[in-house]
Amino acid sequence: MTRQVPPIGSALDTHALQLLDSAHYLHPFTDHAALAREGARVIVRGDGIYIWDADGQQIIDGMSGLWCVNAGYGRTRIVQAAAEQMQTLPFYNSFFQSTNVPAVQLAARLAALAPPGFQHVFFTSSGSEANDTNVRMVRRYWELLGQPQRRVIISRHNAYHGSTLAGASLGGMAGMHAQGGLPLPDIHHIGEPNLWKQAPGTDPEAFGLQAARWLEQALADIGPERVAAFIGEPVQGAGGVVIPPASYWPEIQRICDAHGILLIADEVICGFGRLGHWFGSERFGIRPDLITFAKGVTSGYVPLGGVLVGERVARVLAAGGEFAHGFTYSGHPVACAAALENLRILEEEDLVRRVREDTGPYLAARFASLAGHPLVGHVDSCGFVAGLNLVRPDGSAFDPALGVGLLCRAQMFRNGMVMRAVGERMIIAPPLIMQPRQIDEMVARIRYCLNETQQVLAALGYV
Ligand SMILES: *Cc1c(COP(=O)(O)O)cnc(C)c1O
Repeated sequence: MTRQVPPIGSALDTHALQLLDSAHYLHPFTDHAALAREGARVIVRGDGIYIWDADGQQIIDGMSGLWCVNAGYGRTRIVQAAAEQMQTLPFYNSFFQSTNVPAVQLAARLAALAPPGFQHVFFTSSGSEANDTNVRMVRRYWELLGQPQRRVIISRHNAYHGSTLAGASLGGMAGMHAQGGLPLPDIHHIGEPNLWKQAPGTDPEAFGLQAARWLEQALADIGPERVAAFIGEPVQGAGGVVIPPASYWPEIQRICDAHGILLIADEVICGFGRLGHWFGSERFGIRPDLITFAKGVTSGYVPLGGVLVGERVARVLAAGGEFAHGFTYSGHPVACAAALENLRILEEEDLVRRVREDTGPYLAARFASLAGHPLVGHVDSCGFVAGLNLVRPDGSAFDPALGVGLLCRAQMFRNGMVMRAVGERMIIAPPLIMQPRQIDEMVARIRYCLNETQQVLAALGYV
């Protein structure tokens, strides 16, 4: 944070980049007509919890990039570990009875960090590929057990499990399903455990049980003998930081156990300290059979994902001959070397425990103080994810068509703060290195931006 900002060009350079960007770069999840009109934000540098744009503006990155830069920006140690591995061996595959040193070390490290019962890891380069791997793996598992009719995977509306065909199908995003004929067959969705959306004002624990029993209902409708697995994020991230009541996951676990179906915890966001534990499953008392990971495993410095495979599944797969699945970059040595160094940082700086016992509770208290703002309704948090719902000063909801969340997000960015908008819900997932004084700084910026948003909404006649 004390390093000098290098000269990164004038406003003209920014504009030239924006024109080139618009002419050639197809962005993920982007309306390109709007992008061409407004120009992309060009981010050029990061350090700690901050990023800088091409015009030199310093911005608090309240979203850790995309939920991934857990160890913060500017970690020279990760850069060096990756560079040294590139010198030594930039690539070799893990097919054909080969392996490489960082992949072996990382697999062993992850097995040690995982909840009890996990001894094996399958590597991919992303969370989406890891969830595709889950689909293939659980179907293979049931085939090997002589139950090939067990193909159905149950997920939840508004879940996010990636953007490949299987990932987008497992996910419950209506906008994604509306394009290209998704979901794929044999993927079924139940309601999400979202109290403020589904049953505002009701008792949270009673609602948690009710939401879990939608799984039991689905099993009855589909026929439990056809169901292979249930998949869920411990806390739904992209769906808007949906924190389930404490009663929810134990009941889901009970139902999975009662019917013998596999439980997949998608920990791509919740893993590696985000909820104050190495895995979010520990926070919610989930005993999964498979764990999807990506994002925070490398703090995003290089792409890496994978599946932690519990012994119940690993034993059957191992006895079943070749599993015809894998990627060129499974166990990529540079990605694994970066992950190992990132995990060392999380451990040496005690970041997981700090989020659980120290900075997480501090963030929760400071963020909750925003509930007093006239535009803020429901506020909640869990570890280092948090969300607030924008409402009218009289507490009533905004018409979604007004795009109030996006207006608020624009005010945030203009004033040096990244918050994500999911409808009218504004969410954060800051780097785990954020210190209490930086939490104060962030909450002050958010409060300032909420005031600005209120003025803009008043000028538009929305409040
Ligand atoms: C981001 C995300 C994915 C997809 O990961 P990619 O690396 O973008 O493919 C899957 N599951 C969850 C919960 C995620 O947040």
